[in-house]
Order: sequence, then C-alpha cells, then structure tokens
Amino acid sequence: MARYVESVCRLCRRENEKLFLKGTRCYTDKCAIERRPYPPGQHGQRRGKVSDFGIQLREKQKLKRIYGFNERPMRNLFFKALRMKGVTGDNMLSLIERRLDNVVYRIGFAGSRKEARQLVKHYHFTVNGKKANIPSMILKSGDVVSLETGSRSVTKITGGLDIYSMREIPAWIEVDKGKFSGVIKDLPKRDDITAKVEERLVVEYYNK
Ligand code: SF4
Repeated sequence: MARYVESVCRLCRRENEKLFLKGTRCYTDKCAIERRPYPPGQHGQRRGKVSDFGIQLREKQKLKRIYGFNERPMRNLFFKALRMKGVTGDNMLSLIERRLDNVVYRIGFAGSRKEARQLVKHYHFTVNGKKANIPSMILKSGDVVSLETGSRSVTKITGGLDIYSMREIPAWIEVDKGKFSGVIKDLPKRDDITAKVEERLVVEYYNK
C-alpha cells in the first residue's frame, strides 16, 4: 500500500485550509498554513483558473486527506453509500465518520486520525467488549468503544481525553471519561459533521 511520507502540512497548504493532521500543533501559531497560506512548490503562488473537474478533484482529495484515506477505501465507501437509501453524499460522510479510527479520534484518545489508526491496529480498544483492531470497521448506533483495561495506564492515550478537549465532541457520541469509553448515541447526520467538505462535488467526481 502506498504511504505518504512527506510533511502532512503540505497537504493542508495544497487544499488551502487547515485539515488538522498534526494534533496539538494545529492549534498553535506554528501551524504551517498560518505562516505560508499558499500552495506548496515552486509555482504555488501562481496557479491559474481551475476547471470543473479540477474543483471536484480537489474536493475529493481534501476529503481523503482529512480522514487519511488512500484512493481504494475512499472509492469503496462511495459505492457503499451509493447502494444505501437516501442522499449519497450524506451516506458517504456518515460511513466515514463512523469508522472505528475516526470515532477513537473524535472521543479524544488520539491527536490525529493517523495516530488513532495506529492505536486501533495495536489492539488498544474494544467494541462492545470485544477486542477490535480494524480501523475501517463501521460502527452503528449503540456500539460502545472502550480503551482496553491493560492500556488504561498508558498516559499518552488517557491524557488525550483532557488534552484534546479543545476539540468539540460531536453530539452523536457520548463520552464517559471515567470509563474510558464512548457510545454511539445516534447515526451522525450531515449537520453533525463539521468537516468543511462539499460532498456533492465528491459524488459528482466518482459518478463520472
Ligand atoms: Fe495542517 Fe496541522 Fe500542519 Fe497546520 S499544523 S498545516 S493544520 S497539519
């Protein structure tokens, strides 16, 4: 699987907005986009007119980068959303938000989705009492995500519950810090999803 190994701040600068890929640094004035608010590269400051396709492509790339996907999982989620009842764009965002790695990030156990994915892969969490190590697992209403008992002494993970309280916990997740867990109260609706993405453009891109 291809892995992006360059600075993730370049991705924010390319999309010309904060994608919050670096944990606490994103909330400080060290954020690269605060210092250099233009696309990276030699010609970053003089890009020309963008076509409709280019706009759709950028929006799709932005969505992928916010959640840290490669192309295949992103495409798979789109086609899964397409087969569901309702509005495809809303379904796609709901599926993305309900991935286990994203829920771990949303609860506050990790500084970034990349870190959350790593923690999940290393068996630090359970879903409904069973060990879960698949970041792409889609959770449903009523599912409970908890920190493994053996991992509750890892202050790097538990400390996040306080450190990352700067991030708003979405209304569809109820966090119980005392139990190191979060429950999916309801399926996220479009208004609950704060990612600044025009999902209509992403749907148009994949529908071509
Ligand atoms: Fe993006 Fe965070 Fe880097 Fe700022 S610090 S450019 S928000 S990854």
